Amino acid sequence: MNLLAGPARMASVLPAEPGAQTMTLLEAARALLATGSLCDACLGRPVADRSFGLTNEERGRALRTGVALADDEPYADPDADCWVCEGHCARFDAYADRLVDALGETELYTYQVGTRVPPLLEENGRLLREQAGFDPEAGEPLKRELNREVGRRLGATLGAEVDFERPDVQFLLDLDADAVEVRRNSVTVYGRYRKLQRGLPQTEWDAYETSVEEHVAPPFLGAFRATDAVFHGAGREDVDALMLGPGRPFVLELKEPRRRDADLDALAAEATGETVELEGLAFVTHETIARVKGHDATKTYRATVALAESVTEAALDAALADLDGATVDQRTPTRVDHRRADTVRERAVLSVDGALTDDRTAVVDVHGEGGLYIKELMSGDGGRTEPSLAGLLGVDVTVETLDVLDVEGVDEPFLTPAYRRDRDGEPASPPW
Ligand SMILES: [Zn+2]
Repeated sequence: MNLLAGPARMASVLPAEPGAQTMTLLEAARALLATGSLCDACLGRPVADRSFGLTNEERGRALRTGVALADDEPYADPDADCWVCEGHCARFDAYADRLVDALGETELYTYQVGTRVPPLLEENGRLLREQAGFDPEAGEPLKRELNREVGRRLGATLGAEVDFERPDVQFLLDLDADAVEVRRNSVTVYGRYRKLQRGLPQTEWDAYETSVEEHVAPPFLGAFRATDAVFHGAGREDVDALMLGPGRPFVLELKEPRRRDADLDALAAEATGETVELEGLAFVTHETIARVKGHDATKTYRATVALAESVTEAALDAALADLDGATVDQRTPTRVDHRRADTVRERAVLSVDGALTDDRTAVVDVHGEGGLYIKELMSGDGGRTEPSLAGLLGVDVTVETLDVLDVEGVDEPFLTPAYRRDRDGEPASPPW
């Protein structure tokens, strides 16, 4: 027990017998009370590491009572003015009410309270310990007591749970500025989208009238009463490529939301139209944004290719078998900006499959490592990509359409139980 340098020194001159520790504590209490007028919380705080399960106010009241009994003096309630906290410890309830008022119409499951304590009060805490002969860090700081006591009252009023990592709502009680701040952390919704129309960028782009984001966001903004929605796609896609199959993963980040729960299936249905379809929506943790935006994705493309000469099914199958699992060397494609350095990079073809639709046209599905250039894998890009379908067939190959069938995390799917944030029951909300 790191009790108090002062009383510990006093203990050394006391007889080592049963009851010595009690004497030490009473000496400590007398030393604290001798510094001036103290409230019970400030009297108890320097011994906050003793006896789990008490508030500092209870500790302080017990010390005050103990001193009165030991000295057989009349018990005196603490004075109204406490020189250490200057009355802040009498206002825990009022501060909790103030935070509830500042929250206004907002739903939440979890919260956290932080406090900014004026430097003068922190200095008072050090002076108290110094004058009473305590270790300067003895017990706990005022800030921690405020966070806990105001937080406990707030939680009870709201019916919400404390979360020290990423709460739905972060409160700041700024005693220095006599102000409160409320930060509503984003709601993050994971899902997959299919894009059924060419010429549609993923996010807003001047040259285009609309985007996937603009098709998706509106019903979510309304349902969560958010100020803004940010669309995070798993990789960018060609404006002219369709996104088919199970769709491309995305996270929609809803900023400063006042609602935290909604029927995601209903929202998916509302956002789904002829151009964009949504499915597989789930609430996820905030880290999912970084995972989805990270480059650890693999992609599956469907290319429709034109063959310059007639090719047999057997020749196509043999060429695709050679590409299946191949490591491909790709020099920077000729179609890519000439200012980019001409480098060779290695990318894996994880799997490939395809069939002729007639003797001059084939459909090829390629599941490749992120960054694999598909058009060049088909055409060979004049020998700059090796191996390639054109090289293996000995026939010129041109990509006519290129669509994305699937995007997925390399090491694990984006949506796993660890990243899901299932909503348990109705969110709490202040009475409004
Ligand atoms: Zn006080």
